[in-house]
Amino acid sequence: MVQILEKILKNPIYNETDQRLIQKAFNFAELAHRGQRRLSGEDYISHPLYAAYFLSQLGMDATTIAACLLHDTLEDTNIKPDDIKRDFGQEVLFLVEGVTKLGKIEYSPSQPNQKTAFENIRSLKKMFFAMAEDIRVILIKLADRYHNMETLKYRDKEAQKRIALETLEIYAPIAARLGMGKLKGQLEDTAFPYVYPEEYAWLMKNVKGKYADRMEYIERTRPILKHYLTEANISVLDLHARAKHYYSLYQKIKDHSMDAEKVFDLVAMRIIVPDIKSCYEALGVIHKHYRPFPGLIKDYIALPKPNGYQSLHTTIFCEKGKIVEIQIRTPDMHEHAENGIAAHWAYSESGKKIFKANLKETEWVNQLKEFLQDMKPREGITKLKIDFFKNRIFAFTPKGDVKDLPEGATPIDFAYAIHTDLGHSMNGAKINGKIVPLNRKLKNGDVVDIIKSKNMKPSNDWLRIVKTTEAKKKIRSWFAEEEKKKSELEKLSKKSGDEKITARKEKKKKIAIVSGPKGTPVIQGQTGLMYKIAKCCNPKVGNKIKGYMTVNQGVSIHSVDCSNIKKVSGKDKRILSVDWSLRSK
Ligand code: MN
Repeated sequence: MVQILEKILKNPIYNETDQRLIQKAFNFAELAHRGQRRLSGEDYISHPLYAAYFLSQLGMDATTIAACLLHDTLEDTNIKPDDIKRDFGQEVLFLVEGVTKLGKIEYSPSQPNQKTAFENIRSLKKMFFAMAEDIRVILIKLADRYHNMETLKYRDKEAQKRIALETLEIYAPIAARLGMGKLKGQLEDTAFPYVYPEEYAWLMKNVKGKYADRMEYIERTRPILKHYLTEANISVLDLHARAKHYYSLYQKIKDHSMDAEKVFDLVAMRIIVPDIKSCYEALGVIHKHYRPFPGLIKDYIALPKPNGYQSLHTTIFCEKGKIVEIQIRTPDMHEHAENGIAAHWAYSESGKKIFKANLKETEWVNQLKEFLQDMKPREGITKLKIDFFKNRIFAFTPKGDVKDLPEGATPIDFAYAIHTDLGHSMNGAKINGKIVPLNRKLKNGDVVDIIKSKNMKPSNDWLRIVKTTEAKKKIRSWFAEEEKKKSELEKLSKKSGDEKITARKEKKKKIAIVSGPKGTPVIQGQTGLMYKIAKCCNPKVGNKIKGYMTVNQGVSIHSVDCSNIKKVSGKDKRILSVDWSLRSK
């Protein structure tokens, strides 16, 4: 344990003051927890210490490291808030209290009764409110969870399953949304076997061997690619293989009807180059030597993912025709992809670390806070999971404005995200220029053109298609409004049934005035209908005429004196009144 503390202290990001603070927090926590043990048999202090070590590797500031070392003292020992304030000051106390308040979230989606649902929401609210105040609170919580997952094997079966599920459904998505791709992968992979033991066993049996083969292949191919790049004067800082995390691999295989052969990025090759210009140059060199797979070239540098991820991706027919995914990025982009929000620390001029949170991330936390504020406990966390924890995609309007939506969102969600009225009046959608069904799932980078029509109305079916709570809410309120109008109208018509009839008559009169170009028949007051002049009597403009509705040739126009038309009873509904239009064109 002393070695772990040494490792933290020796991290060059901490100056002497920082080191003193960390050492003091360790001594304080060690004394407070003395005599307590983890289920693993280790001294309790090992838990906050490992969590603190994790945060130090992310480059977190000494205040956060100290707070992390102290994070369980208020709950599990005799230490009082005043003790921490006296020895460490207000900032450290704020963080420790923040983590303590989150407490133990009793997340039990398996028994979604009123009470547990209420508890879930209450504790999640607490968590996100604390996050909104200081994002470091959640980073400590994530480190705490990371170490608890590492030592989950010592817990009983019931606790294992509950904690692992909570990790998959709450903590891993938070890490992902904060851009901490590495931690997200680690959390998911440790939770995976506890939550889905059979699926995990399947994956190990069927895919593990393939992993090893692919790894070996990439190792053999690496020098060839490196040669091509250096030959083109591109400086390659690093070129390594990255194996896909097991849980995300399993998710992907599920989407490909359990066929691992169809997953091209089982193992990807990652190229790190000094700057953006070199990224595009490297892509050019790769495509010069290997044919790219159509449709899989992705420029996340020009169009970053909603969580800020940047990189170039391409999938090529590599050596011996094998399909390989290549990722090209700068060291900054790489650091961001791995550690996200924790990578945004920067030294201020005075040498003190200051926190520069990415605007996108703080915005997300604030949206979450608002969402939770109006949320009713019995609504459960399904909505929350869809709107905030699902992977996000971005789609564009034809003018190039970006909308960021949950994965699985449809053109209807897109339309409502732009404007309520656009949603209500949408008649269809084009994606990348092609008409698509309204239930088509949007993909990253799609250009969505909403076709609207004045007479369109929302349909009840839409409620089953849409993904976002926003769209659902707007459709429901449209129907509620419509219901209200209808009942008001009914009340009105009961009161004034006579008035209504008069109104209808007037409408009829109005129609009779309608006329087309001079010399065309006006049928029942309407122009533009399909008609033909009957051959039997061949009426001329100015003759008195009548119409007869035929099955498929429109209205046949006869002279009123025609013997054929006289055979048909005047009461027959197929007989129509017709006049010649007198208006000149
Ligand atoms: Mn803890």
